[in-house]
Amino acid sequence: MEISKIIIGIEVHIELKTLSKMFCPCDNDHFGKEPNTQTCPVCLGLPGALPVPNKKAIQDVILFGLSVGSEIPWYSRFDRKNYYYPDLPKGYQISQYQNPLTINGKLTLDNGKIINITRAHLEEDTAKLLHETIDQEEVTLIDFNRSGVPLMEIVTEPEINCSDEAKQYLEKIRQLVRYLNISDADMEKGSMRCEPNVNLEIKDEGKIFYTPIVELKNINSFRFAKKAIDYEIKRQFEEFQEKRIEKSKGNKQTRGWNESKGKTVPQREKEEANDYRYFPEPDIPPIEWKDEDILNYESRIMNHELPWNKKKRFIDQYGLSDYQAKILTEEKEVADYYEETVRVRDIGDIRGVEIANIIINKKAPDNLSPEQLIEWILSNKVVSKTSDEDIVKLIDKLLLEHPEVVESYKKGKVQALGMVVGLVKKETGAIVSIEKISQRIK
Ligand code: ZN
Ligand code: MN
Repeated sequence: MEISKIIIGIEVHIELKTLSKMFCPCDNDHFGKEPNTQTCPVCLGLPGALPVPNKKAIQDVILFGLSVGSEIPWYSRFDRKNYYYPDLPKGYQISQYQNPLTINGKLTLDNGKIINITRAHLEEDTAKLLHETIDQEEVTLIDFNRSGVPLMEIVTEPEINCSDEAKQYLEKIRQLVRYLNISDADMEKGSMRCEPNVNLEIKDEGKIFYTPIVELKNINSFRFAKKAIDYEIKRQFEEFQEKRIEKSKGNKQTRGWNESKGKTVPQREKEEANDYRYFPEPDIPPIEWKDEDILNYESRIMNHELPWNKKKRFIDQYGLSDYQAKILTEEKEVADYYEETVRVRDIGDIRGVEIANIIINKKAPDNLSPEQLIEWILSNKVVSKTSDEDIVKLIDKLLLEHPEVVESYKKGKVQALGMVVGLVKKETGAIVSIEKISQRIK
């Protein structure tokens, strides 16, 4: 008996960074605020209160959708998802079911694998339950500041095949929404939450079996996501060997990640989709897009340089290595800082590649402005006074002296050139890129 495939689909919830909530004018920024100070009849679910959708939140989801190449259906609407829970005062969540804002997107991982994004839709967040002990009594308190905060839900196809891919996917989503400036996407603060759905394909004596799907909740870091998935793979395989329970309609389970135990633990059983009795939200008219609306959004997304495009441009424009460009474009602020520094000075001894090295290796003190960083580089003589020409001559000489390095490079061992980087630095103080050296190899 062996695991022939690990099957993972991921749901991500992202709190959108709008000024007001999804359906009312209450302040949206709820983190760390005094409980129940940002509420109104709409987000408290009082009878007769009418929701008015937040246009900016809708635009944010469309922008996200377009950035992952989604289709924007011309017709979209809100639905009621009915269930009872103390954090949901109306007894239903306004969400989207049959007609989401965006469908059929794609995200490419660093290894080139494409993850299909089934949909990204808009809904409202619930209130927050706080389990506390007051006067030796265990109580649950409710904070409605979070009730009605706009949430974007992003759902993938079950095409992720290991915990590393899952982590990479989550990191890319976080990077993207931060670049688009539509969310802080902070897992620790709960503004990004993920729910991986995990099960296994198992091969036994030529037959294929599937283990019941488990939805993982309560994950508040990428590291925990990876650990929870890895634990679940092991647990499901062991459970199948012992009990041979196969996936069937209705045996999907919800488990939470318990970091102190290093285990997933069972939570309430998941309702089937039908149990939610979805129906169209009668208080909000459907959204109907015209072609020019979509064109308008498409032109707006053209004005955002997406992280993967920025990375490519950094390689082309500044001669950075793939690694350097990846590190520098991980966060937009760092990428901007790098480019501003290069703009201050990219001549003579101080070139884009050198500046990249200094920022990546954190050689300079923290919090320097781009101008201060250039001054620091000059005063610390981190860069060499040797001319470009002489450095190229030195590289050629070193490559002749070390044929074994050239040979390993030709066999695909790019890191072998690191030795030449070290020797050049030792002799001249200059930091040269691997690319610069590889260009000298015929
Ligand atoms: Zn409100
Ligand atoms: Mn949801």
